[in-house]
Amino acid sequence: MNLSGANETVASSVEHESQTFSGLTVYKGKACGTAICMSSSDLEIPQFQIEECDADYECRRLLQAIQTVEKHLTAMEQDLASDETAPLEASTFLDVYRTILQDPVIKEETQGIIRTQLVNAEWALSLRLEQSRREFEAIDNDYLRERIEDVAYVVTRIQRTLTGQRSTPTSANEEDALDTPVIIVADSLDPADMLQLRERDDLDLVGLIIAEGSPTSHTAILAQSFEIPTLIGLQEDAVLSTGTELLIDADNGIVQTWPGEREKAAALASWRQLRKRRQSLRQIRQKKASTEDGAVVALLANIALPDDLADVRRSGADGVGLFRTEFLFLNRTDLPTEDELYKSFKRVSRTLSGQSVTIRLADLGGDKMLSDESFALLSDSDSPVETELNPALGLRGLRFSFAYPELLRIQLRAIMRVAAEYRVSLLLPMICDPEDVRRLKCFMDETDRLLTEEDVRHTADIPLGGMIEVPAALEMLPELSKELDFFSIGTNDLVQYMLAADRTNSAVYQPDDEYHPAVLRVLYRAIKTLRDAERPVSVCGEMAGRPEMTAFFVGIGCRRLSMDPSHIPAVKEKVLHLNVTDCTALSRSLIRRQSRDSVRRALEETSDTTETS
Ligand code: PEP
Ligand code: MG
Repeated sequence: MNLSGANETVASSVEHESQTFSGLTVYKGKACGTAICMSSSDLEIPQFQIEECDADYECRRLLQAIQTVEKHLTAMEQDLASDETAPLEASTFLDVYRTILQDPVIKEETQGIIRTQLVNAEWALSLRLEQSRREFEAIDNDYLRERIEDVAYVVTRIQRTLTGQRSTPTSANEEDALDTPVIIVADSLDPADMLQLRERDDLDLVGLIIAEGSPTSHTAILAQSFEIPTLIGLQEDAVLSTGTELLIDADNGIVQTWPGEREKAAALASWRQLRKRRQSLRQIRQKKASTEDGAVVALLANIALPDDLADVRRSGADGVGLFRTEFLFLNRTDLPTEDELYKSFKRVSRTLSGQSVTIRLADLGGDKMLSDESFALLSDSDSPVETELNPALGLRGLRFSFAYPELLRIQLRAIMRVAAEYRVSLLLPMICDPEDVRRLKCFMDETDRLLTEEDVRHTADIPLGGMIEVPAALEMLPELSKELDFFSIGTNDLVQYMLAADRTNSAVYQPDDEYHPAVLRVLYRAIKTLRDAERPVSVCGEMAGRPEMTAFFVGIGCRRLSMDPSHIPAVKEKVLHLNVTDCTALSRSLIRRQSRDSVRRALEETSDTTETS
């Protein structure tokens, strides 16, 4: 997607041609607002010394990144050429950027810094930029002196390409703040960025468009808590500019620029209808989610931070089925202390006292990585964070915990202390086999011993559960059920690993992936195996919160679903109108289907029948 923010074109108020672009739905609904495009501002630049023999490699990386940025500028130029409404100065800016990019100051002198100071390419660029700033400051002409910002922009673009880093929402700064409803448009946001965005109460945010990612990426999962129409994975040739009026129609996966008055009125009417439906769903808040023939389904909440508790209460959840504690480690330059973790766990447990709270050990790594500064504070980290080629297959989940036991130990201490006071369970992310569990139990034994020696109130008697999200764990369920007390099936990762389709990459994501018959069959088998082994099991991936899948889950015997709190009312409403006999027949028919398409059609037919009956 081509974004135009404060540094680029800003939509002018002359006559505009309306355009429509498609994207993937994260949160349904329609809204109108003014676009604010985000670009990277507080980029974290990795800084490290390199060996002399690596200097050539760093120089090559630099030149490749410059080439990539050059290509990007060319693409932007072409887009502008075909856009009659684009302001003339936009192409002047691109010319300036291109000149800077080709200037020997960037190419040659940065390579010189890499070779003489033996630093990585990103850092060399920062050093060169610092030098340029000093040189520009000495210029005796205001206009020319301010051109340093163009240089900084180009350098940032190269650094972003080099590090693969993403834009951050902080660039939607106070100057961008508008009195009117706002739709944030970002090229890419990572989960830490989303946490920052949640803090922005200066914006009347009515919609969210994220160019890169898929609806099951962690960024999208966090976006749901905004409860505003949201799209992700926008079509690649979409061009959106700050100041453009947008209509986001997340029911149909489209965004329209410069909508007409009639379309805006229709969006408003649909928004009012949605609000009414939400209000009517609130009336079933206190009801137990029980099918017509009496099967009770526990509807639990997925949370990222204690601040989500208000949403949990409002949703009428039966407890917290997944506390993604890794978010306590993100968006900061230090590390949480044991006491801080203890207080966060306690806040959640105390607020939901009497309900079950499942605390997941931090699932760090992948797209949920500590900042460089936090990472450097780990005494057992002897090297800077490596940029992994395949982060989803890298140091993530339990593997990350075992690699950095210092972090693991403070989490276990905090959980054992809270467990002495409240009913909590501990869930292990990304387990592969019983060996993982046994290794974790050794850490628990050690922590228990130390806390006893220190005379700290605690208990190690905590129900221990495993996330089933790696295909290997599915095969090991009989053995795992001897080691663990309960299970939770993480369909987001399970689908990713079964279909070998990166959940953060909209280019490989298909909206029907969760309907893949292979996915439905393993879910059916896993629930059966675990029920036979008398182990409680829940499903906590995004699938659990899709009302069209509720009958399937009930039919395969799943009686615990954990989801974003925003989905609980609609799923509850669904449960209230189901009966187990029909659900069983439906699920048996679904797992025999041969394609995603066939499953989708069957689900649509069922929902049509239910809605007309
Ligand atoms: C999952 O993988 O389905 C899950 C619930 O965990 P997460 O989305 O945090 O990876
Ligand atoms: Mg997962």
